[in-house]
Order: sequence, then C-alpha cells, then structure tokens
Amino acid sequence: MSRCLSEIKGLVERAHRALLIAHVMPDGDTLGSALGLAWALRKRGLIARVSCADAVPRQLRFLPGSQDYAPRPRTDEDLLFVIDSSDLARLGSVYDVAAFAAVPAVNVDHHVTNLHFGQINLVEPRAATAELILELIRYLEIPLDATIATCLLTGLVTDTLGFRTASTTPDSLRAAAELMDAGAPLAEIAEAAFNHRSLPMLRLWGLALSNIQGHDGVFWTEISQAMLRQVGADQEATRGLANFLRTLDGWPVSAVFREMEDGQVDVSLRSSGAVDVSAVALSFGGGGHVQAAGCVVEGALTEVRERVLDALHQALSTNHANLHE
Ligand code: 5GP
Ligand code: MN
Repeated sequence: MSRCLSEIKGLVERAHRALLIAHVMPDGDTLGSALGLAWALRKRGLIARVSCADAVPRQLRFLPGSQDYAPRPRTDEDLLFVIDSSDLARLGSVYDVAAFAAVPAVNVDHHVTNLHFGQINLVEPRAATAELILELIRYLEIPLDATIATCLLTGLVTDTLGFRTASTTPDSLRAAAELMDAGAPLAEIAEAAFNHRSLPMLRLWGLALSNIQGHDGVFWTEISQAMLRQVGADQEATRGLANFLRTLDGWPVSAVFREMEDGQVDVSLRSSGAVDVSAVALSFGGGGHVQAAGCVVEGALTEVRERVLDALHQALSTNHANLHE
C-alpha cells in the first residue's frame, strides 16, 4: 500500500493534467471519489477533468463539480485515474485503448473482483473507494476543505448505505468524522442521496415488488422496458431497488434483472453473506463485493434471468455442500 502511494505521488508530481474516469451508471462513490480527488489535485496545481459515459443522476447533482461531468475522451491529459471500477469494460464508451497505451493509468478501487489493469493499482478492501482516496490525499499532504470532504463523504455514505453494511469499519467511521470536521454536511448528504424518490420511481418499485418470485433460497424480480413505459419512469428509477429487495426476511440471495434499451440485461445481485455473489457476477463478466455485485449480460431478459438464476442456485448448493462436509 505505501509503495503504491509513493508511486502515485511520483506520477502526480510529474503530471500537469489529469483525467479522472467514473464508471457507467455512476453512483455516489465513483462520482464523489473522482470529484474529491479532482478538487484535491487542483490544489496541487494540476488541471483535473472528470469523465463518465453516463449522466450524473439527479440525486447526486448537489456534488460540487458534478456539472462538469461529460463523456470526454483523453485529449492532452498526461495521467489517468480510473475510479471505483473493477474492470475497464465498466468505463463503457469512455474507455479508449489508445489513450490507455499512451499515458499511465492509476486504478483506485475497493472491489474484490478488481482485475488490476492499471500501471499502478491502489486496490484494497475498504467500505468505499472514497476511503482510499482520502488515504491518498493524506499521503499527498493536500489539506482537506469542505468541497473535497463533501465529495468523499458522499462516497462513503452511499456505498455503506449510511454506515450499515458489513464492510463498514471503525476506520470508515474515523474517516467520516475527519470529513465532517473538514466541513462535510452528513445529514444533507444522506437526505439528498436517499430521500428523493419520484412518483414514477415508487410506482415502478410497486410493480416490481408485486411480482417477486423465488425458490430454493433465491428470489428475484425484473423490470422490463414495457414496465418503465407504463409508469413513465427512466432507468434511474431502479436505483436502490436491489438494496430494498434484500431486506426480505429469510432469503439468502436476491436478484433484480433490468432490461436495457440496447438488448442487454443489467443484473444486480445481493447476498446476506451465505453466497459470494461477486464470484457469480465475475463469471458473467461483471464484479462487485461478496454481498453486493452486478453484471451486464447480452441477451433477452428471460434467457439471461434463467442463466443467472441457475448460477446462483449452483453457488448456493455448492456452498451448502461445503458447509456440511
Ligand atoms: P448495483 O447492483 O448496486 O448496481 O451494484 C452492486 C455492486 O456491484 C457495486 O459495487 C457495483 O460497482 C458492482 N457492479 C454492478 N454492476 C457491475 C458490472 O456490470 N461490472 C462490474 N465490474 N461491477 C458491477
Ligand atoms: Mn464503490
């Protein structure tokens, strides 16, 4: 870890312009972490730009600098940071082979499934990538301010669902305290990130929740394009549904299947811990954490759903067999 930090420091000292890239369908951690680091690098005199293939969701537009996000390719930047992404496919249309061959890329991520694609890989298990960014900013001796702290606390609050996940450690709470001391408004961040749902969104959840199905330890629901049209919702309306579904008592594994416009299916997996859903997601080209993971799979909704459900049942029965050996 410290060798990695000192290598990044060397790159930052030599660089003039940095491009920080967030993953597709961006969440609070990828956006907050990238923006927090961008603001910090600017304090060191660098020009820092932020890039993401998809637009910033409405609930995260309070993040300072979020209006600067654009799906921009590398131009004259001499240093790349890939934030909160376990593989390069997760960058979507912003990934560019030539750009990555031309300049060094620093991979900063907390997912167990990370493929270590960077020249430097700051990849460690933490509750949020924002925690790693805070450690990097401390190492670079850049003083925190309210802007940086707000971005990073948003990453921490959103990825820990308000400090409630198994990944939350005493260090996560100490990091949060340090960020609050620097001026980050915890209650405002939590309010903006969690408590703003539109009517079409709740109607969509109603449809999805009334159609929950399951057997043998795995339950699931799905969202088709037709359902989105029926209630007048967009893709963003599904955000948070997988976490809500997981609260159903007595079921170890849950899944949400979402039909996308381009003939692919977005899959969100959750586990109470009995099964490592990140391994299942990885086997479909995705990634994530033991208890929360996802993948995007080519194919029709029904076909993808059956393939993924088979893999989940398989993982669950293998796990049971291991437990009873
Ligand atoms: P969610 O289900 O909330 O979209 O994602 C749960 C976790 O899995 C997050 O940490 C997210 O970054 C990761 N994840 C979701 N979809 C994908 C994917 O398609 N590829 C990879 N590598 N990770 C994913
Ligand atoms: Mn994250």
